[in-house]
Amino acid sequence: MAYQISDDCIKCGSCADGCPVSAISEGDAKYVIDADACIECGACADVCPVGAPQQQ
Ligand code: SF4
Ligand code: SF4
Repeated sequence: MAYQISDDCIKCGSCADGCPVSAISEGDAKYVIDADACIECGACADVCPVGAPQQQ
């Protein structure tokens, strides 16, 4: 399953910069992942300072 970003997101933007398929964009309250585009590489989870991206 694709990754999802939890409400812990502090909108630092690091995950979006590192996503190889540009599946992450800035939403109103947090960054969001396009589940159809995500290839489940885990890079966003590795760079996130608060552990917000989690595999569903
Ligand atoms: Fe992008 Fe990889 Fe995170 Fe999916 S798991 S949103 S492909 S960085
Ligand atoms: Fe949010 Fe983590 Fe992405 Fe930063 S790296 S925008 S805190 S999900």
